[in-house]
Amino acid sequence: MSDLSLNNLQTIIQKSGIGILILNWEYRIILSNQWFQRYSSFSSESLMNQFFLDVFPELKDTRTDKSIRICLEDKQYSILTHSLNPYPFPLYENKKDRNEKKRIYQYLHIIPIPVLDSEKSLCMIQVSDVSQQVIRENMLREQMNLATTIKEEAIRASNAKSDFLASMSHEIRTPLNSILGMTELLEESDLNQEQKRYLDVLRNSGKALFNIINDILDFSRIEAGKLEIESHPYSLTNVIEETLSLFFLRAKNKGIRLESNFFPGLSTSVYGDPIRIQQVLINLLGNAIKFTQEGSITLSVKRELDAQLRKEVLLIEVIDTGIGIPSDKVGKIFESFTQVDSSTTRRYGGTGLGLTISKKLTELMDGRLDARSEKDKGSTFSVRLPYLPYFDNDHLLASTWDGIVVPEPESFPKIRILLAEDSPENVFLVQSFLRKYPIEIDVAENGRIALDKTSQSKYDLVLMDMQMPIMDGNEAISQIREREFKMNVKASDSLSIIALTANVAKEDIARSFEAGCNSYLTKPVKKIDLLRIIFFYSQSH
Ligand code: ADP
Repeated sequence: MSDLSLNNLQTIIQKSGIGILILNWEYRIILSNQWFQRYSSFSSESLMNQFFLDVFPELKDTRTDKSIRICLEDKQYSILTHSLNPYPFPLYENKKDRNEKKRIYQYLHIIPIPVLDSEKSLCMIQVSDVSQQVIRENMLREQMNLATTIKEEAIRASNAKSDFLASMSHEIRTPLNSILGMTELLEESDLNQEQKRYLDVLRNSGKALFNIINDILDFSRIEAGKLEIESHPYSLTNVIEETLSLFFLRAKNKGIRLESNFFPGLSTSVYGDPIRIQQVLINLLGNAIKFTQEGSITLSVKRELDAQLRKEVLLIEVIDTGIGIPSDKVGKIFESFTQVDSSTTRRYGGTGLGLTISKKLTELMDGRLDARSEKDKGSTFSVRLPYLPYFDNDHLLASTWDGIVVPEPESFPKIRILLAEDSPENVFLVQSFLRKYPIEIDVAENGRIALDKTSQSKYDLVLMDMQMPIMDGNEAISQIREREFKMNVKASDSLSIIALTANVAKEDIARSFEAGCNSYLTKPVKKIDLLRIIFFYSQSH
């Protein structure tokens, strides 16, 4: 500070890039700087010693006036932003603005300055020009308003388009139905070879048109949010078999093998919307057949522990050995009206809507649809859906393990299991069942101990009783899954846990699945079921 003279300080104030006015306790101006003089068009002399409200009579009783007063009387600091202060100083950027009465946007600091050895204080008013910021802010606001309007218009246009498509497709379907009906009737009449050929073309084109219209109708219903998804118990095995049966003939005619893999241990009945699931599968299988010239198509149905959701999901995959999709195009095929190349339409037909609809339907069912593919090798489309097994009280899961043949003790795999069970009788029972098999059984008397033991050593399988003291089975399962999740354990490496439950009520079983068990066995446990389930899980590692 000592290097700055009074003169220097005065120059700093005079040359400052903001406006400065200083008033004394009599409300008179005792200092104005060059910035203020320039934009107010007052000279230093005409301001000096003037009573503030004589110079700016229009500011009487405004916020500025009041703030100056409380600054002088109560030594209070105020800030007046441009939006809070409708009466700024009459400051203008230039003559034109002055004529048009366009004031500079101002930001005011009103600062009390104590006077040495006195109760009184001075008031310094600092004026910053915030016009640029305000103009930018206004522009931004306008742009945002414009963007909102454009977005609203786009949504309105899109809704109008969907409504139009929905009603148009509906209107087309009605006469098309009659055309197809009439073709069927014609087929029954006496026709010569040539007429039969014409009729074939007519029928096939009619059917193709029917499929396209259905696609468009579904697409527009989904777009308009008008498609409702149902959830009720249905037979998964029936849906899979029925869907496959629609394609056997087509596959056979093309010389392609059509196979299915329904993993044992999967509940045959689940909650969901069978019609929509079938629609997705028909689409995927239809594509697979369309784009495969030789080899096989496999429909695989299994469960998977989803690392993201930490829940079991139903995984349905359609695997083909067809033409495949180039890696840069795989991400695009789910977009509407998109095909890998335009020659596809000429060669294979289609609208490019099938996958868009399938993806949207899967998402509406809280699932997801992904594709992996390699050009000239084949494609795999994976549908993941929430796995919500349905058990009625007399339906025991054991029946779904029927297909598993348990090897003799000599050829049974050597494995290590943890039995979490508090009742010594039940422990004895399981030990006796497995006595002849090369199965090492470790015992945990409650969930807490099971949690510790599974972190300390490796097991191939855990049999977890539900009712245990200290920590019950569901809690232990949730905590094991939580730990695996934190440690980024892959779904395929996660611990297989079988819930042992005395209760066959579906709510209880559903709760164990929610906690993260892989499967369950009801008590009293039968030896054959226990061996089948242990064998099945020893194979899956
Ligand atoms: P389309 O009605 O044209 O078949 P989709 O949305 O079902 O429409 O499929 C879009 C495009 O994705 C197809 O045209 C094709 O290029 C590609 N595609 C879909 N499934 C397969 C598959 N299994 N193998 C190779 N390409 C596929």
